[in-house]
Amino acid sequence: MLVNIIASSKISQVEELLDKYEKIVIITHVSPDGDAIGSSLGLYHYLTALGNEVNVVVPNSFPDFLKWIPGSKEIVDFERYPDFAQKLIAEAELIFCLDFNVPKRVSQIGPYIEAAKGKKILVDHHPDPADFCDVVISYPEISSTSELIFRLICRMGDFEMMNFESATAIYTGMMTDTGAFTYNSNSPQIYYIIGELLKKGIDKDQIYSNVYHNYSEDRYRMLGFTLCEKMKIYPEYNSALIWLTNEEQRRFKVKKGDTEGFANLPLNIKGIIFSVFIREDNDFIKISFRSQGDFPSNRFAAQCYNGGGHLNAAGGEFFGTMEEAIDIFEKALPEFGDLLKNNKKK
Ligand code: 5GP
Ligand code: MN
Repeated sequence: MLVNIIASSKISQVEELLDKYEKIVIITHVSPDGDAIGSSLGLYHYLTALGNEVNVVVPNSFPDFLKWIPGSKEIVDFERYPDFAQKLIAEAELIFCLDFNVPKRVSQIGPYIEAAKGKKILVDHHPDPADFCDVVISYPEISSTSELIFRLICRMGDFEMMNFESATAIYTGMMTDTGAFTYNSNSPQIYYIIGELLKKGIDKDQIYSNVYHNYSEDRYRMLGFTLCEKMKIYPEYNSALIWLTNEEQRRFKVKKGDTEGFANLPLNIKGIIFSVFIREDNDFIKISFRSQGDFPSNRFAAQCYNGGGHLNAAGGEFFGTMEEAIDIFEKALPEFGDLLKNNKKK
């Protein structure tokens, strides 16, 4: 049985808003990942089936390996269609903010959300949500926003209204935010929910394949190059660094999402509990942190690069050179030395 997580008062507030309004926009974070797209489309299909006028708006494009999800072709990319996206946000009666905790995480969309007149509902699982929504459904102990969407729909008494498309999107988000149920995934409730989603006819093996057996040849070769040439191990700190410059990414014709998952790879090595991936983007440097056990990658991200995220998966942005970004990382390692040395792999 599903144990109640979301407070009943929050469920009533959402029900009230859904009774009143039907022009709805769903917004998720920049560089959307599987959970961002999965939760958005999971909610989109449900709300559409109820007869609402629903649009999903994302700050920028998302990887090809998510473009098979039903409804993904309908998603409005703010970067490509700024005027249309702004109009949708300004005219929305209700705005769902999914899988992010602060307006900064939707980059250029942030000010438009804050200025929008529509009522705002946050559904998210990142710690410390900012106060920018009318209803805040924030449960950091839940491993994906997609799971929260499943719970929200069920708690409104609408499991029957959840269709195959919605279930497929929700499963995709739950799967990708747990590394295909290899971390953050010990709650028996997750497997109860999967059982319920299977009843909707989802093909979980096909979904896995769509996401993880879908690499381009270039991406796979870049992976080999990165592990062979661009990974540094710090055995005294149980840590690893991988880094890629713009030039190296161009060599492998990198496309959006091609480096997704790279940050996790060093954790496959015996003894490594902390992995950092520093990647040059067009006008900034993107840094991803992954850890195992209790090591707080979000604290490391916040202290070194003004970033944030979850305990075991965090991120940040850096404005400077690759050398400087690496230098900051290497100087911070000794500061976290005790935590790094005393943590065990799960
Ligand atoms: P990823 O490395 O997959 O981009 O991000 C992992 C997690 O770190 C995300 O789920 C998000 O919680 C967090 N994160 C990523 N980038 C940033 C950032 O620039 N700032 C903050 N505060 N969190 C981030
Ligand atoms: Mn998420």
